[in-house]
Amino acid sequence: MPAYAVANLTMPPPTKPAACPCGGAAFATCCGPYLAGAAVAPSAELLMRSRYTAYTLGDETYLRATWHPSTLPPGPIVDPDERLQWLGLEVKSALRLRQRKANLPESPDSDTVEFVARYKIAGRAHRLHEVSRFVREDGRWFYLDGSFPE
Ligand SMILES: [Zn+2]
Repeated sequence: MPAYAVANLTMPPPTKPAACPCGGAAFATCCGPYLAGAAVAPSAELLMRSRYTAYTLGDETYLRATWHPSTLPPGPIVDPDERLQWLGLEVKSALRLRQRKANLPESPDSDTVEFVARYKIAGRAHRLHEVSRFVREDGRWFYLDGSFPE
């Protein structure tokens, strides 16, 4: 048997890190640490991304922990019986830049993030276009509420 064949049999296949549902390269270095509680999302956009990822994973605990108490729904956020499949996230940063310029001086403890999230229910594709508001308290960002431009 040639040496290279032996090498192929004994070497493990190259491992590729699992991509993050939010579109990041790797879950372990993207939203993973936030969902695990190992790190706090340092910006509203990163919190928004990690909350999208939490939705894709049905992580009710993280969604509640990052939702501001003043607007937190009393009932469950994730419905395990809803056959909803998240397909992807697109953050619209251009609007944020426009808003930054229009609203100067901006409070460093509030921010908005516009995004489009695509999902599928019962074979039908939908898109959620939302402008989310976030507030920061004691160094932690929280989701406050959202409006829907279309
Ligand atoms: Zn991510």
